[in-house]
Amino acid sequence: SYVIAQPCVDVKDKACINECPVDCIYEGARSLYIHPSECVDCGACDPVCPVEAIYFSEDVPDEWADYVRANAEFFDDG
Ligand code: SF4
Repeated sequence: SYVIAQPCVDVKDKACINECPVDCIYEGARSLYIHPSECVDCGACDPVCPVEAIYFSEDVPDEWADYVRANAEFFDDG
């Protein structure tokens, strides 16, 4: 799935939410998160993010690798 990384923190522009065809991008306290099993990997959200926070999970830069888990855990915690 796609993942939202560090650049979204305290930004939450939300342009991605308007692009997602399956409404799988959710708002947390400081960041937006993509539901890993609802995401259909369409890639529509990626180019509209003004801070380039969105990556395909396998392409997340190493320094933000923890965000793959962070996106999944956001939904585990309810
Ligand atoms: Fe939604 Fe597509 Fe982005 Fe997944 S890749 S979060 S389905 S817009």
